[in-house]
Amino acid sequence: MSSQSDIAAFIQETPLVDTHEHMRREEVYLDESPDILSQLFQNYVGADLFGAGASQEALDNLFDSSNPDVAARFAPIQEAWARTQHTGYGEAVRIIAKELYAIDELTPDSIAAAQEKNDALNQPGERLRLLRDEANLDHIQTDAFSIQVTPELSGPDFFFNDISWAAMCSGQPNHEEIAEHTGQEITDLYSLRLVMETIFQKFSTPAIAVKAQHAYNRTLRWQERSDDEAARALDVYLRDGEEIEESARLCLGDWCWARGVELCIEHDLPMKLHTGYYAGHSRMPVDYIRSGNLCPLLAKYPDARFVLMHIAYPYTEELVALAKHYPNVYADLCWAWSINPYSSMEFVRRFIHAAPANKLFLFGGDTGYPGAALAYAKQARTWFTRVMQAEISDGLLTESQAIDLARRYMRDNQYECFRVDAKKEILRAAVAQ
Ligand SMILES: [Zn+2]
Repeated sequence: MSSQSDIAAFIQETPLVDTHEHMRREEVYLDESPDILSQLFQNYVGADLFGAGASQEALDNLFDSSNPDVAARFAPIQEAWARTQHTGYGEAVRIIAKELYAIDELTPDSIAAAQEKNDALNQPGERLRLLRDEANLDHIQTDAFSIQVTPELSGPDFFFNDISWAAMCSGQPNHEEIAEHTGQEITDLYSLRLVMETIFQKFSTPAIAVKAQHAYNRTLRWQERSDDEAARALDVYLRDGEEIEESARLCLGDWCWARGVELCIEHDLPMKLHTGYYAGHSRMPVDYIRSGNLCPLLAKYPDARFVLMHIAYPYTEELVALAKHYPNVYADLCWAWSINPYSSMEFVRRFIHAAPANKLFLFGGDTGYPGAALAYAKQARTWFTRVMQAEISDGLLTESQAIDLARRYMRDNQYECFRVDAKKEILRAAVAQ
């Protein structure tokens, strides 16, 4: 450890909690067996490549794994890659290339030459090994876009899942999914309430949290809605379905969202909310996504635990203020390091000196493949180490104070907020039965 400071070594060696992924299940991953170009690029970087001038056709070819000629699929995006490689997304791709394939520079030839290494990544158990042993993650929390949560046999106390509340908050509860997982039907507000209670009765015990990313299709501005208003809005939805008018959709969404928060309180689950930046490109209405839109909801439910994801980038300073002001607000750096590592670094430094130490979660990869999550974890550790070394060298923290904070941000805060010890027990017992 002679060349490394204590804080750098601590950040490397401490198992990191991963609060947000869309990790494919073992059987899905093995079935899909992603090829080298999928492992490298099937993540957020596609949006940056498009922004850098790659055509949609070139990107579709890049991801077309039915064509085994990987050099020919990469060549048309090589210039866009040259323009993208220094973004946070691009940096993560370079880490994947290095860590999984020992590639220093991505070229058609280097990718073709490394292709043979890919088979070893798509073997049973490799997904867990990459995430737990290579990425040194404590556990991961996945949003599988489903109201259903079942233990994962491939690592029952490692793979946790959220209950998705996105369709509810969007004011578009999914009839088919609800019928499949609850056996119930929504015919009026009373039956909608019953459906929600059934979802929590069935899935809140194995679930680690409730999650909603409705900021992708509506404003985060919430307002209280009466049962009468919501019943009228539900009538419109039952009649018009996806064609439901905006005002009715927001009304029903707000009502379902609030009932979800109440059930979270009753069942002792945090509610994770997407705030800030959008995946993809060319469609982000910035006024939807600010965490400040949530203030009426945060004030209404002091007993809830709200995890505001992605540091609400680019409205990061506002989130520091919310985490400082509202005891029920936690800020989560999931996905943030790769969206903008420099902003994330500044966010942590501002947070340290403004908000309580129990309110920040350091990491979530927000991706579907283990190799990408490994790269995002490495990226987060690298930038976080820069943060803590800067704090120490500026005389703002001692080394031992930095280590104490790192332990909280990397692990202890998440254990407390998500009741991780108890959840691990529950899932181990469920699988042992
Ligand atoms: Zn996500």
